[in-house]
Amino acid sequence: MNEKGVTTITLKKINKSKVYHYIYKQRITAKLQIVRDLQMGLSTVSQNLNVLEQEGLIERKGFFDSTGGRKAQAIQIVADAKISIGAGILKNMFHIASVNLYGEAVNMETFNVPYSSDPGYYDQVTDKIEQFISENHYTKDRILGISIATQGIISTDGATVTYGAIMDNSDMKLTDFSSRLSYPCRLEHDSKAAAFLELWNHNEFDNAMVFLLNRNLGGAVITNHCVQKGMSMHSGAIEHMCIDPDGPLCYCGNRGCLETYCSVNALEAAAGMPVKEFFTLLREDNDGGMQQIWEGYLQYLAFAIRNLNLVIDGPIIISGYLAPYFTEEDLEYLLERINSSTPFKLERRHLIVGMQGQYTPAGGSALYYVEQFMESIS
Ligand SMILES: [Zn+2]
Repeated sequence: MNEKGVTTITLKKINKSKVYHYIYKQRITAKLQIVRDLQMGLSTVSQNLNVLEQEGLIERKGFFDSTGGRKAQAIQIVADAKISIGAGILKNMFHIASVNLYGEAVNMETFNVPYSSDPGYYDQVTDKIEQFISENHYTKDRILGISIATQGIISTDGATVTYGAIMDNSDMKLTDFSSRLSYPCRLEHDSKAAAFLELWNHNEFDNAMVFLLNRNLGGAVITNHCVQKGMSMHSGAIEHMCIDPDGPLCYCGNRGCLETYCSVNALEAAAGMPVKEFFTLLREDNDGGMQQIWEGYLQYLAFAIRNLNLVIDGPIIISGYLAPYFTEEDLEYLLERINSSTPFKLERRHLIVGMQGQYTPAGGSALYYVEQFMESIS
């Protein structure tokens, strides 16, 4: 092919990408608006709209109100033209979430299957994923991939878990899943997946610190708009920050890790009951004992936030299972505790709460394939 031919194809691709990404960003738009804002010829825009429509990536649905003359047709992307699946593997259960091209959770499900390293376990998980796909009528061509978020540090090549003390899953491999599923698959640390979701929802942040308040505590560092992995993949493992060298024993074998104060497990142990019951008592009955336990929890959390904010000068994102339980009053209390002993005050607007609860790692993990797809249309 001559140089001119290559240039024409490249230009065509660029125009198609520009039109698609413009519609994606606008959410809903009209042909003339695209022409005007992209400063592209009407025929070029029309051509690209036809191609994108034929590929099932955009749709024309309804009309804008007319201000005289012909009504303009409303154009939007087909958000579920492609679907990405995320699975969040925990010790006693796993979550599955599907997300659309906007990264919005479409379907979610939880399965109470305890982890085991037996092949039978992987058969069960992958069968449930297949079942989830068929029950939600996702055809194979729509599925971008299956991303598996698990507790544990993942090897730099993404092939295995290298540290899995919580679930005892240090022998978990990507092939345990990928050999049983006929889709692209990947393995990811659940804390990093959760942070990716928070970053997706708060695109305006360059730097942030994510606290994943799950059954086991997790964390992640966001710098320069990226979730940091670190040279041996354990950046942001705030759960093992030592709060008190004589404190309770952590599953890592050391004492007084933040895990033993700020994980959901630690809160449940202190309250002597499941989280759901704890919050019901705390909120409805205004129980003094529960109040004390909750304030104790928030004080440890504030201590960690205060210190980490000195390392990463950015917003604090509270994410994971416990996040949806936080009230405005809790946040005010937390902020007051953070600011009571720091030279650099944190503003209320920089204390953010994620809303996806226990599905955060599964949903966040799925975003990988969405991002990859969006980049492929370029
Ligand atoms: Zn520890």
